[in-house]
Amino acid sequence: MNRRGFAQSVGGAVALSALAHSTAWGESSSETPGKIMAIAAHPGDGLFTMGATLAQQISRGGTGLLLSLSLGEKGAPKDIPVQRYGEMQRTATEKAAHLLGTEALFLSYPDAEIPFNQESTLAVSDVIREHKPDVIVTHWSGSWHKDHQNCHLIVRDAVFYAALETLVRRGPAHSVSKVFYADNWEDGANFVPDTYLNIEAIYDKWMQACDFYPMWRGQTGFFRYNDYYSSLSVMRGCLSGFKRAVALMSDAAQRTVRSRSL
Ligand SMILES: [Zn+2]
Repeated sequence: MNRRGFAQSVGGAVALSALAHSTAWGESSSETPGKIMAIAAHPGDGLFTMGATLAQQISRGGTGLLLSLSLGEKGAPKDIPVQRYGEMQRTATEKAAHLLGTEALFLSYPDAEIPFNQESTLAVSDVIREHKPDVIVTHWSGSWHKDHQNCHLIVRDAVFYAALETLVRRGPAHSVSKVFYADNWEDGANFVPDTYLNIEAIYDKWMQACDFYPMWRGQTGFFRYNDYYSSLSVMRGCLSGFKRAVALMSDAAQRTVRSRSL
């Protein structure tokens, strides 16, 4: 394949070493990495599909924060009570976040019952106002999992509420510059990545962080998370010219290119 063919196969995507908070439209170079917040329905999603992005951002001088809307406690195997498994998930997430140099926050919605309503949207909006991220990474909408779908919708509206000056809450309004969607095996319907992040430098640390979860090693279910996400990083790397990469899909609103000529 020639270079033009390769570029076409990647679909004109941009390849980055960090997510900048103030890059020009369509520009592929990145400036100083900003503060990134990953918002996940379950802690495993946060680490397995957004953890490398957080780690990369931090390694480039940015800061990160992981917000889980639930503890993912209902993924408990038969021999572990649900509540105890939830605490194991919390401990694993705190250890993983510490290793990656980020902070872990939790909301207390029950796993498999995360509601999409005014209360949950305002709760996430308040966290955004308090922590003021430049960039948010969350679930794509094309998921079979209702918690993931609801998380996507909650974040969409929470970003709007966070920026709405006339909505009076305890924290001042805050505008998020960019929203990206993570590459998740459960959220694959119509997921079309357009941004590839080079994760070679932090790959080993990210793998170590994921390994705090029994689920990562296939101890709680059938899915081979470790094989899937480590292989995916190679595949995404092949498509972007990096050894290992994560692919992200940018929100439609930030895909507009303003140009005087082509
Ligand atoms: Zn999940």
